[in-house]
Amino acid sequence: MSEQRIVGIDLGTTNSLVAYMEGDTPVVIPGEDGSNLVPSVVALTKDDRMVVGNRARTHLIDTPDRSIYSVKRLMGRGYEDVQEELKLFPFRLDRSGSGEVLRIKLGDRTFTPPEISAYILLQLKANTERYFHAPITKAVITVPAYFNDAQRQATKDAGRIAGLEVLRLVNEPTAAALAYGLDKGKDGIVAVYDLGGGTFDISILKLHEGIFEVIATNGDTHLGGDDIDNLLIAIALDDIAGDLKLDLRRNGAAVQAIRKAVIEAKIALSSQSTAKLNVELPGGKRYQREIGREQFEQLIEPIIQKTVAPSRQAMADAKIKPEDIDEIVLVGGSTRIPRVRALVKELFRREPHTELNPDEVVALGAAVQAHILAGGSKATEDMLLLDVTPLSLGIEAMGGVVAKIIHRNSTIPASATEHFTTAVEGQTNVAIHVLQGERELASDCRSLARFDLKGIPPMSAGLPRIEVKFLIDANGILHVSAREQRSGKEAQIEVKPTYGLTDQQVEDMILASFDHAQEDFRMRQVIEARVEADNILLALEKGRNNPAWQQLSGDEKHRIAGLEEELKAAKSGDDYKSIRAAIDALNEGTMHLAELMMDSVTSTIQGQTMSGADRTVGQGPTAPHPIAPAEFEHNR
Ligand code: ADP
Ligand code: MG
Repeated sequence: MSEQRIVGIDLGTTNSLVAYMEGDTPVVIPGEDGSNLVPSVVALTKDDRMVVGNRARTHLIDTPDRSIYSVKRLMGRGYEDVQEELKLFPFRLDRSGSGEVLRIKLGDRTFTPPEISAYILLQLKANTERYFHAPITKAVITVPAYFNDAQRQATKDAGRIAGLEVLRLVNEPTAAALAYGLDKGKDGIVAVYDLGGGTFDISILKLHEGIFEVIATNGDTHLGGDDIDNLLIAIALDDIAGDLKLDLRRNGAAVQAIRKAVIEAKIALSSQSTAKLNVELPGGKRYQREIGREQFEQLIEPIIQKTVAPSRQAMADAKIKPEDIDEIVLVGGSTRIPRVRALVKELFRREPHTELNPDEVVALGAAVQAHILAGGSKATEDMLLLDVTPLSLGIEAMGGVVAKIIHRNSTIPASATEHFTTAVEGQTNVAIHVLQGERELASDCRSLARFDLKGIPPMSAGLPRIEVKFLIDANGILHVSAREQRSGKEAQIEVKPTYGLTDQQVEDMILASFDHAQEDFRMRQVIEARVEADNILLALEKGRNNPAWQQLSGDEKHRIAGLEEELKAAKSGDDYKSIRAAIDALNEGTMHLAELMMDSVTSTIQGQTMSGADRTVGQGPTAPHPIAPAEFEHNR
């Protein structure tokens, strides 16, 4: 088989896509319907099949209780974290089970956010496998720069459930800068302005000798194209209530038809000066209206103005002025709007990059990173992509205060060590409470993990020297270790993110996803069967050159040749069951030959198995694997 392809994936809130490096250029891999974007929508059909993307979209209206969109908002979050999202989005969560991982209800089944995301990934994987006619098992996936450890871990879990080894998580703005090849330009400051469907992110990157460092991030997690759509829908509903005396607010199908029409009009207005709305309403009535670009711009101005304050804050955090920015990259479908482009230009006093499609640029950059990891670039060895940690990390010290160990906006990979001691005479253990956040008190920060360092020999208070080491790896995942230096005692616990999945849960989900996704991902079966067929055909060819072949009767040889032809014929079709049947028949038919050849041939006649990613994040022996800041407690 040829070299393993590594793909780049933008797992977006609204749309997801996959790209691959063809020669020197990253290209987006289209789906079966020819479109590059897969809407991040998943639905469970009434006959228990999972559908993804455009096929799932209609289900949002017909069977809202069996569909979900914007699942990215729930990734790596706990129930307390998502209260705001629950007010704004029709997420149906199941609180009956125990455990901290959220469970989403689709019909009468429940799924965790990584499982839902895995279905999106499986769709992208299937699109890629169809495109290349080869299995894909490795990927680079992008995440927002502000994603915390639990959110990053959940994204990795999603990849693993989908049968993808996630070689690297890359921050979305960094990927966008890579897509533009800015890493090859002169050192300087890059601003990435990302206005997507439901989120706005601004990131300031610093490029130094081909290395990106995210020096500040800011944004608004509830701002984007959806707000524009909702505003236009509200206006249309008002018009309809006034002019046509129809109240359609509660009519889901009508609202959906209006939504479709306003989105089309919005998109048209990015390239035309006027657009027509023309919607057929229940009762044979029709809503018609023309909207001009100027009027549209006035309407959306308050929405897009909301991007100004976070942008200024990011510049302030990065300690830069607009004049210091050398390049501006536009990301997100909503930056196709000319007024948004003009605003960006006003804000940063520079012409932004618009050569690449803003809704594809993150996936394209992920493909560039994948190519680098695959060893396809000369820059590989010294190419290290740097990002920043969005929130400070530390541990709880005496009195419930936070001792920050790694500060917010620190460049990652990062590591820092602080020393602590005991508070009580003869204290033999300490509880390390890892915390994330900017507040001074542990109770105001987010608790990421707890573990104990035990077995410290009794000493006077203040005498032990406890070294707490934080390491954030290149994926932004935190490892914490504690060691008492006088005795050499180390904490031997692996700390997992509070809302993470256990290995067993991930394993079960991998199995479940195959059970239920089979129909949709039939292509995978076909590809795997073909690979297995190739293996056995190759083994047979080797067998023919083996002296054992001569010991077979003419009849036997003839029979094997027939089975070989049957397998070749089956292989050219796309029914995996017939390929498997032909494989089995040939296996059966060559049993005697195999016996004669003893173990030499049988060892090559092996099925292809799926390889899962290793969940272990850090390799280092002193790198357990939690995520944010920690707290310190004394023993009674
Ligand atoms: P996300 O990063 O949130 O997954 P995208 O970057 O794909 O999303 O952006 C999706 C948003 O971009 C949607 O609100 C969509 O309506 C909007 N959009 C796409 N194309 C255009 C266009 N030509 N003009 C205006 N808005 C657009
Ligand atoms: Mg995006």
